[in-house]
Amino acid sequence: EANKSSNFINQIIDEDLAAGKHSSVVTRFPPEPNGYLHIGHAKSICLNFGVAEAYKGVCNLRFDDTNPEKENQEYIDAIRNDVQWLGYDWPGEARYASDYFDQIYDFAVELIQKGLAYVCSLSADQAAIYRGTLTEPGKPSPFRQRSIEENLDMFRKMRAGEYEEGSHVLRARIDMASPNMNMRDPILYRIRFRTHHQTGDTWCLYPMYDFTHPISDALEGVTHSLCTLEFEDHRPLYDWVIENTSVPAAPRQIEFARLNLNYTITSKRKLLRLVEENHVDGWDDPRMPTLTGMRRRGFTPESIRHFCEMVGVNKVGGTVDMGMLESAIRDDLNERAPRAMCVMRPLKVILTNWPQGESETLTLPVHPQKPELGMREVIWSRELYIDREDFVEEPPRKWKRLSPGEAVRLRGGYVMTCREVIRGEDGQITELHCEYDPATLGVNPEGYKPKGVIHWVSAEAGVPAVVRLYDRLFTTENPAGNKESDFIEFLNPESLITMTDCWVEPALAEPQRALPYQFEREGYFVHDSQESENRGKLVFNRTVTLRDSWEK
Ligand code: ATP
Ligand code: MG
Ligand code: MG
Repeated sequence: EANKSSNFINQIIDEDLAAGKHSSVVTRFPPEPNGYLHIGHAKSICLNFGVAEAYKGVCNLRFDDTNPEKENQEYIDAIRNDVQWLGYDWPGEARYASDYFDQIYDFAVELIQKGLAYVCSLSADQAAIYRGTLTEPGKPSPFRQRSIEENLDMFRKMRAGEYEEGSHVLRARIDMASPNMNMRDPILYRIRFRTHHQTGDTWCLYPMYDFTHPISDALEGVTHSLCTLEFEDHRPLYDWVIENTSVPAAPRQIEFARLNLNYTITSKRKLLRLVEENHVDGWDDPRMPTLTGMRRRGFTPESIRHFCEMVGVNKVGGTVDMGMLESAIRDDLNERAPRAMCVMRPLKVILTNWPQGESETLTLPVHPQKPELGMREVIWSRELYIDREDFVEEPPRKWKRLSPGEAVRLRGGYVMTCREVIRGEDGQITELHCEYDPATLGVNPEGYKPKGVIHWVSAEAGVPAVVRLYDRLFTTENPAGNKESDFIEFLNPESLITMTDCWVEPALAEPQRALPYQFEREGYFVHDSQESENRGKLVFNRTVTLRDSWEK
């Protein structure tokens, strides 16, 4: 019995188990290695591995690798890594549909022998005409009546490489008048002279997805084959293959709705375009909805799994709000992220009454609500940086930060009062001269009230850093939804703003790897070790802001 919250798939599985159809549950996650996994795939991974976990069954990872021209080893390695990063593992080795090419071929021969498949020599254009339309039944191909002997002989020659690409295909012999176009003698095999990443040049004949998938499922003893809704119309063909070949099991296909997220794209083909046309900096660009991009952005596997749980499993499609994904990571990091200070628009402060060359080590909690996470050391010195935006000369009413003659507390440090504004020749403010109050470390001042609390970094001990402020990749909710325009037109020109003159507290000179930090008052930021190495300077990526700035 499932201990997971019940959805329609759990109900079907419960019924099948109660009816004694299976003694245990086997699922599979079947990516085609033609790109990197994205957040949509995460839903399928969480569902397939989650169902297996809930029923104490297993979930295989199976590469659905029947299109050698679009697939490669880089994608295979990335997919394995991403599934494991999400927190799942498969029993034994990963599987490949190509592991089964011999058996799939034998099942095709079986169909030919039963008079249920034939070699068709129509050109693609002719075949399209014979196929008919949604409103008009198709016509039988003139090759439908080929003898079993001739079909067997030709199919063998197709495998042996004796025919050209496109000259012949193997088709199932089902029903050219079926209202379901997928049943009008669908193609089972086509000739492709391509080197395959797993099978090399062994094959020049590759099975189609609709033939490969049910057989692979059956060979692995998959009990429930969960796929997205666009395969609903393919289910009769899936069942036809299972019924008409001597496969060892009868898996059941169940469809669920794809996950769509607004302000982004969940299609490998379109994501590939972003990469190839250099609109982003590779598959792992932190703006990409790929798992590798999200990891680099600072998303945790926990937050993605939680998001998938919140989205749930439905039979009806819809679009999920990006805000939901952002709040999933925000909630996770609010609980766990260590706190740190980073000044992104530095304005120098000189504490005129603090002795030159001296500093003090202050201890601040790593996380104010989690004493078990310990303390961190922060250096206080005569010269500090605060954020330019925390100072105005003419404060508006209710201004809660610094202004001339007023006092603020520096987070975890002392209270200081602004005494003098220093300008450069161009009139720009270059520094503030302030006086700190020695009686105010962890204590309220007597006789006056600071306006607020601001963050700061020692200008003497702080570490220079680059901070990349990421925002949504597209400016419109459904960039791919408009047939008239190309989704590229809707790229957000401000999806990346690079702040090059930032200062972080000294402890971050060697940033931890595990989690993003909360830069106090700014948001969540993760260290980018790769980019830090490239630039020879610390680089942090903004994972998400502290609050939902998109909420209207
Ligand atoms: P894409 O259009 O991005 O290439 P795909 O469905 O062709 O997606 P596959 O590699 O075949 O990609 O997907 C592997 C599994 O993940 C399939 O079972 C597929 O149905 C599922 N999947 C893909 N995209 C989504 C999505 N947006 N939501 C839920 N499941 C998805
Ligand atoms: Mg697919
Ligand atoms: Mg695809």
